[in-house]
Amino acid sequence: MEEKLEALLAGRFQKNLDNCTKEELFEALLLFTREAAEKLPANTGRKKLYYISAEFLIGKLLSNNLINLGLYEEAEKILKKHGYELCEIEELEAEPSLGNGGLGRLAACFLDSIATLGLPGDGIGLNYHFGLFQQKFQNHKQKEVKNPWITKESWLMKQPDSFLVQFKDFAAEAVLYDIAVPGYESGCGRLHLFDVKTVDERIVPEDSIDFDKEAIRKNLTLFLYPDDSDDAGRKLRIYQQYFMVSSGAQLILKECEQQGYDLRKLHEHVVIQINDTHPSMVIPELIRLLQEKGFSMDEAIDTVSKTCAYTNHTILAEALEKWPLEYLEEVVPQLIPVIKELDKKVRKKYADESVYIIDENERVHMAHMDIHYGFSVNGVAALHTEILKKSELKNFYDIYPEKFNNKTNGITFRRWFLHCNRQLSKYVEDLIGNGFKKNAEELEKLLVYKDDEKVLQRLAEIKLEKKLEFKKFMEETQGIEINENSIIDVQVKRLHEYKRQQMNALYAIYKYLDIKAGNKPKRPITMIFGAKAAPAYVIAKDIIHLILCLQELIENDPEVCPYFRVLMIENYNVSKAAKVIPAADISEQISLASKEASGTGNMKFMLNGALTLGTEDGANVEIRDLVGEENIYIFGKKPQEVLDLYAESAYCAKDIYKKDSLIQKLVDFITGKELLAIGEKESLSRLHKELIGKDWFMTLLDTREYIRIKEQVYADYENQKEWNQKVLINIAKAGFFSSDRTIAQYNEGIWHLK
Ligand SMILES: *Cc1c(COP(=O)(O)O)cnc(C)c1O
Repeated sequence: MEEKLEALLAGRFQKNLDNCTKEELFEALLLFTREAAEKLPANTGRKKLYYISAEFLIGKLLSNNLINLGLYEEAEKILKKHGYELCEIEELEAEPSLGNGGLGRLAACFLDSIATLGLPGDGIGLNYHFGLFQQKFQNHKQKEVKNPWITKESWLMKQPDSFLVQFKDFAAEAVLYDIAVPGYESGCGRLHLFDVKTVDERIVPEDSIDFDKEAIRKNLTLFLYPDDSDDAGRKLRIYQQYFMVSSGAQLILKECEQQGYDLRKLHEHVVIQINDTHPSMVIPELIRLLQEKGFSMDEAIDTVSKTCAYTNHTILAEALEKWPLEYLEEVVPQLIPVIKELDKKVRKKYADESVYIIDENERVHMAHMDIHYGFSVNGVAALHTEILKKSELKNFYDIYPEKFNNKTNGITFRRWFLHCNRQLSKYVEDLIGNGFKKNAEELEKLLVYKDDEKVLQRLAEIKLEKKLEFKKFMEETQGIEINENSIIDVQVKRLHEYKRQQMNALYAIYKYLDIKAGNKPKRPITMIFGAKAAPAYVIAKDIIHLILCLQELIENDPEVCPYFRVLMIENYNVSKAAKVIPAADISEQISLASKEASGTGNMKFMLNGALTLGTEDGANVEIRDLVGEENIYIFGKKPQEVLDLYAESAYCAKDIYKKDSLIQKLVDFITGKELLAIGEKESLSRLHKELIGKDWFMTLLDTREYIRIKEQVYADYENQKEWNQKVLINIAKAGFFSSDRTIAQYNEGIWHLK
């Protein structure tokens, strides 16, 4: 490797390992690693998976690829010899901005595990030039700016393929970039990212996310999830979705034809996993393409139905896409006859209008199309799948019980353990050997050490090391100096009312007032938030404003700041997740029970030795079942109670506010003089009004119990031996949440590759 790096540096920059800049060294490492990944044999077989997703939140790739290729230690050694730290060089990589949150990160973890397990499978998505957006804090508010991440040399490799995608008014040329996905000590998969050839980055000004939404040829692949609060934005999303699935479907058929497969047996050679409803148009598009190849409509429908499988990620009604037929007519008229035929067949068979594809308002329900014309429907955690079967999708479950199945989410341990926490994973290896790297459930071998004081002590030391690293990072990036001896209590995830960051903020107000009243905590507490809000989601941005105002208030209050702080990480992303999670003591997973389909953040924290403070929701339930009640903090109303409250419209925030003087005091603090002196009245008042007048996700319902249990958690932290025992048990039981397990289950239950 050293010679190759020297050769790359000489060839490109006329430099060597001793006189190059860090940027030059990074580029040489990238080129070296990219070539090594390219050279890996592709995983092959008679049947191939295509995982189609609007998002792939892949994170930085240098270190992960080096780890998977088995080259990390060698690279580290060579760099050290020449006076560099690999962990410093990896910072120079820009994080690809191709995803939003959990769903996109899941797709990335899945690609890693698919490649690792040797399964033939590729991802299909779009190459968004400015990604989601970059979050900046300005006047205690979120400001969105574009996030250009594509550099001259990158992991993207231009491919010769190109496809024509026909829209009503014009045709767009799709060009293809691939990113190689090396498995861990295994073969290789690929992430195929389509781009529109005529894309024009210049239509977006500096420090902005504004652009002409109607200039489709130029804007099609600029942003992930462009603002859909107006018609033009909604149509742009349809353009993007169709562009992705049409070029994807063409690629799939081309690969089949190259292999000489009989398209009538498509389902024996191809399985398409539809990640949420953004790629659902792949179903009518494939049907249309097969008709062009001589299939009758019925034959095409039959073949495609045996090829496509759908993953549901949410029960939030507003997230289930329903496109007006009229919009589809304006963008992709060629799909209308197919969609109408699919709907007609459903109407012929079933009287229940709730399962129709086209509803009485002429809207196309994408999930309904997936369920009728896919062969598998899966939820992403045991509780979530049960809720789908019993309530949200009950009418579909009654028709197709055999299609429904659960695949509890997982995370790749290469990134979320071996890479982000080398100290802990190395120590675990010293204790139980390296078998856990290939078989994560071997982590259970740690249980024999649960009474070993030396081991427990070492776990605490490693946590402190990770806190110190995080402290350094926060100083360098945001100029904030964290107390490494404080309890670090973390809630990092997309901002959404159902995730209830606002409840955590109410706790912060409680603690602030309590300290002002003279009750100092035994040990300093650092509460950390990190979250992006969708640019058009007003209340979510108000919640960010509240948190940033609280941060400002407390940072400037010497009576409180030494004991209790509220800090917000700017631009929370994968790289920042990898820094904060290993430093956390407490993992906040406080969504309204029944609303978080699974969560994967919860798994990352557990694996890195943080204890979960959470509701009975998503995969929290499975974490509890694995570690036992005594090693997790579960509180709040139960999923069924919440579902009943919705069914009976029985929740009234105002009643709680009126009857409970503590709750009233906390909520009113939002518009009290302290915060109004810092923040914006319009925003804080709107949030105040929302919490009392609507509170759709029932914050006030669980706030009292939340305060009680959080005090309990902080008190329990003082018994360090017991705490570290709980930590050890959590790490030992985290193996189930390896995405290798999840992918093995997808393969056995749905894909049947190899
Ligand atoms: C894991 C991850 C998520 C998902 O977090 P949840 O707590 O499950 O919502 C979101 N964003 C990033 C950057 C992540 O790494």
